[in-house]
Amino acid sequence: MPDVFPELPKVSFKFSLDVATVYAIEMALHAHKIEMRAEKQYFSEELLEEWREALSLPNLFWDLRAFMCGRGNLNVKVKRLGEHIILPLLQKSMKIYEDHWKAILPSLKNNVSPLLQAWKIHGKEILRGICSASRLEWNIKEIKVFFVEPIVDGHGDAFPEEGSITFEAAKAPLPRCLHGLTHEIAHLNTADIIHQEDIRRKVLAECANDLVAQQALIEAKILNKLDFDDPIRDIEKWKTESRQEFLYDPEELKQIVENWWSNHLESKKNIRESIKDLFEEALPKMLLKQ
Ligand SMILES: [Zn+2]
Repeated sequence: MPDVFPELPKVSFKFSLDVATVYAIEMALHAHKIEMRAEKQYFSEELLEEWREALSLPNLFWDLRAFMCGRGNLNVKVKRLGEHIILPLLQKSMKIYEDHWKAILPSLKNNVSPLLQAWKIHGKEILRGICSASRLEWNIKEIKVFFVEPIVDGHGDAFPEEGSITFEAAKAPLPRCLHGLTHEIAHLNTADIIHQEDIRRKVLAECANDLVAQQALIEAKILNKLDFDDPIRDIEKWKTESRQEFLYDPEELKQIVENWWSNHLESKKNIRESIKDLFEEALPKMLLKQ
């Protein structure tokens, strides 16, 4: 087979206090309705309240108005807003978090060492497997994986614009870690399917991305079909970004998604194209709650 993957992105793994602090604060603020492991809380209620207050819309706009009245172009004004509001709070939070972060760092490094080991051996095949499952080529040169504190039980997020991922350095079985990481990395390849106008398309795109990740691990011969949880099971979990709710029959939806995926694998379409077929089949079965 000719080499259709001219260049794979370079993947680097980092532990950064800056990223970890922002993640810990974000989770402490319950910004995403995600269940946290209860007992952890390093920030005082006062500090969290300061964040909420400073970033409340009335305060944000009050300060923005003040800066708008000042000198300089828009860029300068918005930068002043960030320096005035976010920087001091961030510095304060990092100072509070730093000792804790340093203390847990050795155990976090320990937790991810099997994952890093596995990536060293199989990473390239996984990156290739993602392309062959999505039929989209990589268009980024570098992927930065930032490990953060395990707060939500092995949670990860992808930031395609930055080519970055945050990933909890949780102690978990290797197949689970590998699948989680591959899912996030696959998001950087399938980035444009995730920008959907409504929550139902978004969760279907999450399922599709998850299937890309699974297929990549199967093709790289690391896991087999039986090692994965059902992506349909996760639909509820992925419904975190919208207040809008929908109803569906899990068995029926599962069937639709599975059929679509085997059609996708047999077809020559890339996932950007074939996800339209999934929407057509699945959306009528996902009724919005009025
Ligand atoms: Zn995802």
